[in-house]
Amino acid sequence: MNKITPMMQQYLEIKAQHPEALLLYRMGDFYELFFDDAVTASRLLDIALTSRDKNAENPVPMCGVPYHAAESYIARLVQAGHKVAVCDQVEDPKKARGLVKRQVTRVITPGLVLESHNLSAKDPNYLAAVARRGDRCGLAYVDVSTGDFQVVEVEGREALLRELSRVSPKEILVADEQETSWISQGITGVAVTVMDESAFDLARCRERLLEHFRVYSLESFGIGDNNPLIVRAAGAILDYLRTNCLDACAHLRKITPYQPGDYMALDEATLRNLDVLQAASTQNRKGSLLHVLDETLTPMGARLLQKWIRYPLVDVSAIVQRQDAVAELMDKGSIRAQLREVFEKMADMERIVARVSVGTAGPRDLAALRRSLEMLPAVREHLGQLSCAFFSALALDWDSLEEVAQHIAETLVDDPPHTLGSGGVIRHGVDATLDHYTRLALDAKGWMAEYEVKERARTGISSLKVRYNKVFGYFIEISKANLALVPDDYMRRQTLVNAERFITEELKNFEDQVLHADEKRRELEEQLYEALRAWVAQHAERILKTARHIAHLDALASLAETASRWGYCRPMVDDSGVIDIREGRHPVVERFLADGAFVPNDVHLDSQDHQILVITGPNMAGKSTILRQTALLVLMAQTGSFIPAAEARIGIVDRIFTRVGASDDLARGRSTFMVEMQETANILHQATPRSLIILDEIGRGTSTFDGMSLAWAVAEYLHDLHGVGVKTLFATHYHELTELAERLPRIKNYNVAVKEFESDIVFFHRLLSGGTNKSYGIHVARLAGLPKDLIVRAQEILSQLEAGSHRPPERLKDVPRPVPRRKSRAGFQMSLFPQGETWLRDAIMGLDLDRMTPLAALKTLYGLQEQIKGRRTAEGLKNKET
Ligand code: ATP
Repeated sequence: MNKITPMMQQYLEIKAQHPEALLLYRMGDFYELFFDDAVTASRLLDIALTSRDKNAENPVPMCGVPYHAAESYIARLVQAGHKVAVCDQVEDPKKARGLVKRQVTRVITPGLVLESHNLSAKDPNYLAAVARRGDRCGLAYVDVSTGDFQVVEVEGREALLRELSRVSPKEILVADEQETSWISQGITGVAVTVMDESAFDLARCRERLLEHFRVYSLESFGIGDNNPLIVRAAGAILDYLRTNCLDACAHLRKITPYQPGDYMALDEATLRNLDVLQAASTQNRKGSLLHVLDETLTPMGARLLQKWIRYPLVDVSAIVQRQDAVAELMDKGSIRAQLREVFEKMADMERIVARVSVGTAGPRDLAALRRSLEMLPAVREHLGQLSCAFFSALALDWDSLEEVAQHIAETLVDDPPHTLGSGGVIRHGVDATLDHYTRLALDAKGWMAEYEVKERARTGISSLKVRYNKVFGYFIEISKANLALVPDDYMRRQTLVNAERFITEELKNFEDQVLHADEKRRELEEQLYEALRAWVAQHAERILKTARHIAHLDALASLAETASRWGYCRPMVDDSGVIDIREGRHPVVERFLADGAFVPNDVHLDSQDHQILVITGPNMAGKSTILRQTALLVLMAQTGSFIPAAEARIGIVDRIFTRVGASDDLARGRSTFMVEMQETANILHQATPRSLIILDEIGRGTSTFDGMSLAWAVAEYLHDLHGVGVKTLFATHYHELTELAERLPRIKNYNVAVKEFESDIVFFHRLLSGGTNKSYGIHVARLAGLPKDLIVRAQEILSQLEAGSHRPPERLKDVPRPVPRRKSRAGFQMSLFPQGETWLRDAIMGLDLDRMTPLAALKTLYGLQEQIKGRRTAEGLKNKET
């Protein structure tokens, strides 16, 4: 065992309080990590691992990061999923007797990040907590970096996961391990922290909430006695903040409860399938709905717009109110432009206020806040020129915070340094003592010159000099000739050949002050800055309110900007249950095509005779695009946005379901088809008559007959669900499904048009009434660049299959296979006629003539003729080549 030094003893005691965190222990200009923490951090940060007490028997592994660059290192550790505890020196090392006092001042976990360094400006950073009793769940979530604190109670795991996927928290707090697996099976990529069960204790949670929000009853937030799960989840969050040194969250002043039914339900699959927040294929914002809609200029506006998209409204009047505001900002383009000019220069007021209230905001934060606050009167002026109800309400509630801006401006210099310590933060004239010390520290020469002038005048010695050197400090030098004029209060210090050196009481004081001036200036400036920050923190609630008003204006102006730029229309929203879109476009796909290249389409859905649209059409025709576009336009309309269409009526939808594409989930042991069927089951169980369902090629993950039967049965089921059916867009390659329209009254057939041109097909991307019976899959495969000989072969197999289309596809096995390439002396030769003309004989012999209609027989003959022609041409070519 090494002998433990007092410092190591202190380290170990502090580390014992934070065993689960990587402890950054401040030593001089570095944060050091020891033992396993050092091994982990050096690996993650790619920094050298050294050791303390190198000569000891068991040297302690150690690594360190410079304190001034600590934030970026902390960000990397947190991003890697670690909790980081920052242990600072909490007394001045110079004044400390013995070991410097240290304590943990901050704990950073994925859900507790506050520094802009570690945050994405446009995204929220939620910390969530889940309290559960049986199937009922209380969910609370807070963005500590902005003060947004919300709670909701949901029934069942599926509803909880749905809510969690749209909140997209960075960290979730739970009461026990069991909950962890319950949650991590449903949601991935999030840190789950198990807290002591007592943190969720109802009485303790209620008390903590009352104390934090300084209220007598939670009723003032609309949280009643019948919401214990909400109280427990929200209380656990406050507990977590407190244990992690964030109890001074003055900006968390409000807690907002809501009901799941207040918004359109969107699950993780739908957000993903429709590329709502990011393009599923790239995991990138580019290529998503959010990306095409987001023209915001402030971070708080960007976050609000994202929230609107995550939470589409279901209340017609609330949507109309947003639409009115967007419409006015579209009409009044010059006001919009002026507002946007201001927004472009605004800082992230919400996050600055959060840092102000927890005491981490630096001088530049406050300077940026001041500059933003100074723009508020201009915003208010523009707001006065807008007249719709939303803007009038905003104007009435407006607070330009002039005195806050003024006080910061009077106290802080215009362009302060990044950190305290080097001086130059507090404005001259704010505090006479600070100015005095600053002058001493920075301008000793100026003082000496002034003193010299004063003493020359007093003594009448024009050659008197005030000087400084390292050995004697400050002194007055008088030449021998003038010694008789030296006043009595001069104290002799040194005799030189031609002169004598003196000091005075005043000079001694000056020297004392100069020596301590820098330190005193630093201390005083820190005190004054902290007082300013604390003063601003008292106004946190007001600043946050105004920041949120700015966010609203910015988000609305962004919607107006997008709508004007891209020719969107204002949809009529109502409770009719009808979705009628004229000349609708896909908001994302159209951006990737040349101007005007996107073909607009009409879609009509209602509860009478257009409840289920079965959409057939070749591959690549645009079926998926129409499906997704319809869902996206509904979602956009319910956020209050205008939509890319000529005109539209959107009956409110309570939930959008999507079953699109195929992906397996090997991590959770679910095959492609299993995922497909589970998602379908979920839709069938959850859909209501007010839902919109998008089914893209359901059943394709299994054998043709199984898949087709399932697809058929699903369509029938949806047609009759709840006795009234659910609005559904159903894209399929099973052309047999078009028969459904003849049997069921609310199903209609549509197809996406293509035209055959010579041996090619032309895509029109136009949705037309009626079904189709061709997929042109082989044409698309050719376009995709599959080898030519393979395509010819596929065509051949297809013709044969089509000829006996009543036969099951297992016929594939009976089809003659091509002879593998053989190397001849002349090189590689591909035989187009692997078995001479035997293929023709086999094809004819394979026909089940007894069960073929005359039409099918004729079609088969045509097919065979085509193949013979194709082979002749190919053979001609081959002969030419050789
Ligand atoms: P598959 O059956 O192979 O899945 P699909 O019929 O679903 O094909 P989509 O994926 O919707 O076809 O569309 C294929 C491509 O066609 C799109 O990526 C887009 O580039 C283009 N496209 C689709 N719809 C339109 C349109 N209305 N206007 C212009 N181009 C379109």
